[in-house]
Amino acid sequence: MIKYEHAPDIKQQILHVAKGIGVNHNFDRVICMRSRGSKARYTIARCYSMPRVMQKAFGMKAHYIIEVIGEKFDGMSEEEKVKTLIHELLHIPKSFGGGLKGHGHVNKKAIDRLYRDYMENCRK
Ligand SMILES: [Zn+2]
Repeated sequence: MIKYEHAPDIKQQILHVAKGIGVNHNFDRVICMRSRGSKARYTIARCYSMPRVMQKAFGMKAHYIIEVIGEKFDGMSEEEKVKTLIHELLHIPKSFGGGLKGHGHVNKKAIDRLYRDYMENCRK
């Protein structure tokens, strides 16, 4: 069974990365979780949205969850971690309405470009 825990360390890193690449969301509504015990072989992280029907049903505004797979993510290099978090951030649309962007939008070229932006902004 997969175990989940809140990941304030990932939240801090997400905030830092988002700032570095100029992404502005309401990060109070981006929840970061770390899982352990996932059987997924190639997944490092995942992004979940809250569909509009659930927002309506629960009387809540849209929220997003970024989950990192602890066994994979925690052992990666800083560069890989940042790129993974950029990848997950790109899945969240600007509208922040409850949908997710697909891998036509979230691709290596976009991630590499934003990673360069991030590195430049970090040096400032
Ligand atoms: Zn993805």
